[in-house]
Amino acid sequence: MTSPTKGARFSDLCRTLEAVASVRGRNEKVRLLSEYLAGLPRDALPIACRFMAGTGGKTNVGWAAVNDAVREVFDTGPGAIRELYLSHGDLGVLVQELMKGGKKSVPLQREELTVPGLQAAFDELAKAGGRGSVERRKKVLVGLLLQCSGVEAKYLIKILSGELRTGATEGTVLEALGKAFAVGRVRDWYLILGDVGALADRLASGDVSEPSPRAFTPVAFMLPLPLPDARSAMAHFGKPVFGEHKYDGVRLQAHRFQEGVKLYSRRMEDVTASFPEVSSALSSLRVSAILDGEVVGFDAGRHIPFVKLQQRLHRRDVGKRMMEEVPLRYYVFDLLYLEGRSMLRSPLAERRRALEGLDLGGDLRPADRFHVEDEAQAEERFRRSRKEGYEGLVLKDPGSGYTPGRRGGLWVKLKEEMDTLDAVIVLAEWGNGKRAGLLSDYTFAIWDGGDLKPIGKAYSGLTDAEIGEMTLALQKIKVGDVWNGIVVKPAVVLEVAFDSVQRSARHSSGFALRFPRIKAVRRDKRPEDADTIEKVRSLYESTGA
Ligand code: AMP
Repeated sequence: MTSPTKGARFSDLCRTLEAVASVRGRNEKVRLLSEYLAGLPRDALPIACRFMAGTGGKTNVGWAAVNDAVREVFDTGPGAIRELYLSHGDLGVLVQELMKGGKKSVPLQREELTVPGLQAAFDELAKAGGRGSVERRKKVLVGLLLQCSGVEAKYLIKILSGELRTGATEGTVLEALGKAFAVGRVRDWYLILGDVGALADRLASGDVSEPSPRAFTPVAFMLPLPLPDARSAMAHFGKPVFGEHKYDGVRLQAHRFQEGVKLYSRRMEDVTASFPEVSSALSSLRVSAILDGEVVGFDAGRHIPFVKLQQRLHRRDVGKRMMEEVPLRYYVFDLLYLEGRSMLRSPLAERRRALEGLDLGGDLRPADRFHVEDEAQAEERFRRSRKEGYEGLVLKDPGSGYTPGRRGGLWVKLKEEMDTLDAVIVLAEWGNGKRAGLLSDYTFAIWDGGDLKPIGKAYSGLTDAEIGEMTLALQKIKVGDVWNGIVVKPAVVLEVAFDSVQRSARHSSGFALRFPRIKAVRRDKRPEDADTIEKVRSLYESTGA
């Protein structure tokens, strides 16, 4: 696979990225990337994959540090930098432009930058901490910039900022990797390993078996498919299934290994500090294991609202007071790994049996589980769960493996549809790919007094034909342009469904909708009939997500 004649020059990587950015089709991008990756030496391959996927630049280097280094290398003031940035909107291109004007000084001897060499410099940047770290980082960055050609400087900065803008996503790099090694299931394996670099390294070692989950690397969460009712759910499975309450809390994956315990949220963030009770209970578990479940607020035999539990998230330090105010319970519904063995391929019934055999102490327990034979039982169970204050019911195929990151239909959720909101389209953006040339992304707003305030953006729910009609209709009411779309006169009302209302600084309404989707275009409604911020506030308070 690797050719000793080809080195891992950074300039080759940059040239490949330039080529990838210049072609349009995804297949062509994949081809270019895979040809490049196939020729790389083993030590450079994982690093190059991370660089190209935009995940290799985690170094604590921000705009200020880059700015500082740039001013040291080029003869330019802050005003010129700002102006160039505004005209290009891209730090990498800005630095490439500055390169054209020449550097203040040049190194005596130019050394060829290599991919592993760049990684070593990044490691140094990431390590720099404490006193003198600003100076140290600047020195490393200046050193790199002095060695760079124009295009290298451009990609150096892009890799550092994680925004490559070549039109190739992490998914494209994965596909290219699969192609380079002629392996089909790279995406699934990536969802277990959580890192393109680790995956590349494994493939390069010749190991093409499914990886086992790794300690302290969260496996992508398996997710349920939403179905509207018990009938469609049971028709979907066509056989008896397991039923569990749909708990209204925070999804939590717990890693218990010899080195300690770590907890991860659905966004794969380390939230160990938010739930000390869970970590301490798991510390007494005698085996190494990865558990999956939902943590809920639980006090005096009752579940407490999600908003209260949420107060714990993103706290550095959850003290005794908080633990007393918001006690919790961790309902474990799955087991991904046990004592050196991946459980991902074991059927759910077996994973569940193994889980029940664990000595889970403290406020940890296996989630309640019932056998659901038919539609009538599913309906009855769903009603009962709702009555008891759960969000709904999750049905699971007892014979299914754990499929990371998928809503593949092996789990199904039933829950009461939330209220919908009527909102007015204020801005529309051009779509990509299949939807190129169509106004397919709509920012919608609700009334706050006499003003329309944006609350979200929806891309899904309309058919292609409806999007086509909408594109024509919106262009007729255009009142201005924005970067990738148009501002429109408030005229079109959408009925938007969503999972919950959240606080958000992104929209001027101060709220955002989670998973918004267009349920209908309400031609029967005028913009003044749209909903108000008061309704949003009350939805937020009642659902508290
Ligand atoms: P949703 O966010 O509506 O797509 O529902 C998926 C979420 O439901 C999961 O990420 C979990 O946080 C949560 N959930 C609650 N109870 C269960 C359960 N018994 N099985 C699986 N997921 C559950």
